[in-house]
Amino acid sequence: MATNRTFTMLKPDAVADGNSGAIIKLIEEAGFKIIALKKTLLTPELAGKFYEVHAERPFYGELCQYMSSGPIVPMILEKENAVADFRKLIGATDPSKADEGTIRKLFAKSMSANAIHGSDSDENAAIEGAFFFSTVEQF
Ligand code: UDP
Ligand code: MG
Repeated sequence: MATNRTFTMLKPDAVADGNSGAIIKLIEEAGFKIIALKKTLLTPELAGKFYEVHAERPFYGELCQYMSSGPIVPMILEKENAVADFRKLIGATDPSKADEGTIRKLFAKSMSANAIHGSDSDENAAIEGAFFFSTVEQF
């Protein structure tokens, strides 16, 4: 069953560049309500666990190093059709292919330092949200 929630995190490049506020503003202006939010740091091991589905991909090691290189801002968001609408708002994984006006087009630096994560399914949104937030934090 489709839910109305998705999970996102601002990646180390976006946070380090001071773009957290600008990106959160775009997210809210697009109609997403912030359900849970914090600033935290992943160890390489935790990053590896979060991106476990990519363990066999060639970029996995670099991705885990990168995702643990500085603070991140994970969030749970709510909106009708949240997962699909949020993927549209962030744009393509490769920023050079992202549509004009998308968050990755505006803020991403490269394929790995691409500013922001967005869940790809309702099932993964629930799993990823639970990775960072306890049930009581997801009010
Ligand atoms: N990634 C990378 N190189 C690639 C593909 C992906 O560094 O060739 C990184 C990138 O940061 C991406 C993340 O791995 O956001 C997860 O990849 P996925 O294919 O799930 O892209 P997304 O769902 O984030 O658009
Ligand atoms: Mg993905």
